[in-house]
Amino acid sequence: MRIQSLHGLKKRVDKQPQICYTVFSVMTMTIKLAEDAVGSLSKPSKMPGFGYSTPAEDCITGSKLATVKNSICSFCYARKGRYAFSNVKNAMKKRLKAIERSDWIDMMVFMIGKREKSGFFRWHDSGDIQGVWHLEKIAEVARRLPHIKFWLPTREYRFVREWMQLNRKPDNLIIRLSAYMMDGEPPTKLASKLGLPTSGARREGFSCPASTQGNECGDCRACWDDSIENIDYKKH
Ligand code: SF4
Repeated sequence: MRIQSLHGLKKRVDKQPQICYTVFSVMTMTIKLAEDAVGSLSKPSKMPGFGYSTPAEDCITGSKLATVKNSICSFCYARKGRYAFSNVKNAMKKRLKAIERSDWIDMMVFMIGKREKSGFFRWHDSGDIQGVWHLEKIAEVARRLPHIKFWLPTREYRFVREWMQLNRKPDNLIIRLSAYMMDGEPPTKLASKLGLPTSGARREGFSCPASTQGNECGDCRACWDDSIENIDYKKH
């Protein structure tokens, strides 16, 4: 269910714990049941843990940016390679539809809680948040799994700005506001107003070391560390 207004969202959020316990009290969950309902977790190749991805074509801001020369989205890795395989595309479409389900939070909490052993989860190695309602759902998953750190890179600044008014960001959800353009400024002003870190594709500050270590994170967990104000990634 989509909730469009912040007021409606606040009312809904206050009710959520009750909804969760009701659902869990009447059914015995399995990973298979959860995957059938909301799709499987993704396994981004270089990451230490699991992720959850939706189609890059459905990024609200990113799909517009993809047509802009030298935007980061015009080089998007999630529109090519294995992301273009039909089975991967179908799995992403299923997840996109599933985020509107009223039981999506319960299913995700169950699946991530059971499967994520690294302690680090990435939202949207492909795709982006679809609204304030979606971001609140992601935040609720993080609240219910406080032992896991969640990283959400996003270009949907307006949704983040509106949602931050709720003042309910869990500490284990790291939201990085991502730059639009190659060699462009990340949205530093907005990020510092909201108290959030950023990411971009320049050659300044902390630079992602993955390309120098077999395209893997290895021991690096910088993306999940909000004391690192900005991370720059190399073009894929
Ligand atoms: S900065 Fe570190 S954690 Fe983030 S993608 Fe690069 S290697 Fe992985």
